[in-house]
Amino acid sequence: MCGIIGVSNHKEAANIAFLGLYALQHRGEEAAGIASYDGKDIHIVKKPGLVADAFDEESLKGLKGKAAIGHTRYSTTGSSNYKNIQPFLVTHRKRPLAVSHNGNLTNTETLYEKLEEDGAIFQTSMDSELIIHLLAKSRNGDMKKWFQEVLSQLKGAFSLVFLVGDIIVGARDCQGFRPLCLGKIDDGYILASESCALDLIHAEFIREIEPGEIIFIDKNKIESVYLAGREKEKKAYCIFENVYFARPDSNIFGESIYQVRKGLGAQLAKEHPVKADFAMSIPDSGNYAAVGYAQELGLPLEVGIIRNHYIGRTFIQPSQFLRDFSVRVKLNPIKSALKGKKIVVIEDSIVRGTTSRGRVEDLRKAGAKEIHMRISCPPIISPCFYGIDFPSKKELIAASKSVKEIADFIKVDSLEYLSLKGMLSVMTEHGSYCDACYTGNYPVEIPKNTGKYLLEGAG
Ligand code: AMP
Repeated sequence: MCGIIGVSNHKEAANIAFLGLYALQHRGEEAAGIASYDGKDIHIVKKPGLVADAFDEESLKGLKGKAAIGHTRYSTTGSSNYKNIQPFLVTHRKRPLAVSHNGNLTNTETLYEKLEEDGAIFQTSMDSELIIHLLAKSRNGDMKKWFQEVLSQLKGAFSLVFLVGDIIVGARDCQGFRPLCLGKIDDGYILASESCALDLIHAEFIREIEPGEIIFIDKNKIESVYLAGREKEKKAYCIFENVYFARPDSNIFGESIYQVRKGLGAQLAKEHPVKADFAMSIPDSGNYAAVGYAQELGLPLEVGIIRNHYIGRTFIQPSQFLRDFSVRVKLNPIKSALKGKKIVVIEDSIVRGTTSRGRVEDLRKAGAKEIHMRISCPPIISPCFYGIDFPSKKELIAASKSVKEIADFIKVDSLEYLSLKGMLSVMTEHGSYCDACYTGNYPVEIPKNTGKYLLEGAG
């Protein structure tokens, strides 16, 4: 996970990057950063915390220049070391070279080993730093060939935005695991993880960066080259972006996420209808599938749980007495709506099963008589090696329990999941998705994980 943005040829480059990161906040809440270049000096601000906490008026003012890149970080292994906050910046051939990365590389061990043997020393524990080392090592003088040569050595998931002097470079791996789109604002261009970042600043959406494309934005001139062998690679867009991760007001992978989620709900209703008094969602992630589910069956849609949007970070450590405090402060059931009712609850996915179990308990306490749960994707049985922060197989409840056993664990009257075929049928390009979390079929060889080099994904 992680959100990335790049802005070229605009006098408000850093402010635009800042606003764009706000829209991409859901992609990473752990840290945020922006690097800008004013033709002479490089400026960088990065801090742990939400976008709103990482910058203030003063620090934004200092981010001068017409080119900027930014990053919101979701650490995949919990290391919140300052050094690991992106953009990752170095000086190379007397000009700044910075990168923001979304996705996880899968051949880090091989690359790391080679680089270390050649004398490289590393500042961070991020896979993204490898890319900078490879760029620094290359002797290729031509900018396009330089990036082509280096990025063709990477395997796994990467959507990247670079700042090279005042040139912005964007790239997407050949499978297109993570999204990246191009927009225009005044005489400048923007690259962003999701189109919702463009809407916020009234930028015009131009197109998505193609899988295997490297795009160079030099002021208002755009040129693209392609990664070696991209024609042979099958596309593998991350289906979990559509199910849960991307914002519903974004268009990614050629789809409106809102319509996809509604479609998943409608398909779920066709496969597993319930004659309930009403349908409801677990907010916010289940909202959109719940609309589709209720519309398909002509069921009333009620708001059975209210989400508090003002919680920020909870600093009270959970004690026995305050057990589950952080979840309860976020979601509260409406007793008057639930009392004595037979309900069908729509949730986007079950990962560990622990929050679902807690929500069901709350609904029961609030007076719901019968609780049927419907999940708008298939059971998640395998971890992700391409950038989604799923726990190990041990913690994925569906990896070891049957649907009936999960239903017993979360204490619902019935539980059903959307079928894989049904889920894929909702997407226009249904053969172009990575569904490894549901099938264990990994489209790119997964890391051997010998544990020799413990590199993290950028997120
Ligand atoms: P649980 O019932 O504990 O598995 O939590 C399910 C909720 O957490 C669903 O809304 C999931 O979509 C959401 N979720 C999404 N991604 C993750 C993740 N990487 N790890 C844990 N929970 C996630």
